[in-house]
Amino acid sequence: MINDWYEIHKISEGVSLIREKHVANWLRCNIWHVRGNNFDLLIDTGMGLRPLKNEIAALSQNPIKVISTHCHFDHIGGAHEFDCRLGHKSEEYIHADPTEHNTGGWNAFVRAETFVRLPDDSFVVENYSVKSAPLTGYLDEGDVLDLGNRVFQIMHLPGHSPGSIALYEKNTGCLFSGDVVYDGALFDTVYHSDPQLYRESLARLRELPIQLVHGGHYDSFGREKLLSIIDRYFRGEGRMGNAAEWVNNELN
Ligand SMILES: [Zn+2]
Repeated sequence: MINDWYEIHKISEGVSLIREKHVANWLRCNIWHVRGNNFDLLIDTGMGLRPLKNEIAALSQNPIKVISTHCHFDHIGGAHEFDCRLGHKSEEYIHADPTEHNTGGWNAFVRAETFVRLPDDSFVVENYSVKSAPLTGYLDEGDVLDLGNRVFQIMHLPGHSPGSIALYEKNTGCLFSGDVVYDGALFDTVYHSDPQLYRESLARLRELPIQLVHGGHYDSFGREKLLSIIDRYFRGEGRMGNAAEWVNNELN
């Protein structure tokens, strides 16, 4: 049994990044904890391979609102441990009944080579699954999350998935983007992806005065890199394409 499954990095005042450190860096999602005066946010919850709630309790005793940026398996696995679970209504049925297919096709990604160490001795890759965690409330375009000390607006940015949302802090130009944009190959070929909507969502982001992006994967970045990632995608580059082939490339 591994007790140090998660690693926690303090990124800035009140913002911590939690990662599943024994999961390959090309798969593990960024779990963001944002401390608020009224309540804290937990933006995505990882693959659900080891308990997460106590790790968060060690960071803060505040009430927690879990925000699922979208319904893919690598982002929603720990949601069931928390009482308040918010996401976009269009993905409600997936949070309630997550399957291999409707959460993004984990068979292509969850393999023995995916792990530096396994979560426990009895773990069998073929038995990986995600626990049901029905949404307890919805977030959609224009909704506001007022933490007291920070205010985030919800943006609905479909394309990667129908219900992808991001959290934008107007005051600072800070964006928690989920998988809409991160510093890596963007994924627009899962069964419910829509490349045309994806382009429209990225075009919206391009027009905002965003200064700092905390993505759903990889490291955070600033405005210049944001523009270059978007423009690369618009040129038809920087796409994951076929997931299984992409994973094979990452492993070689
Ligand atoms: Zn995703």
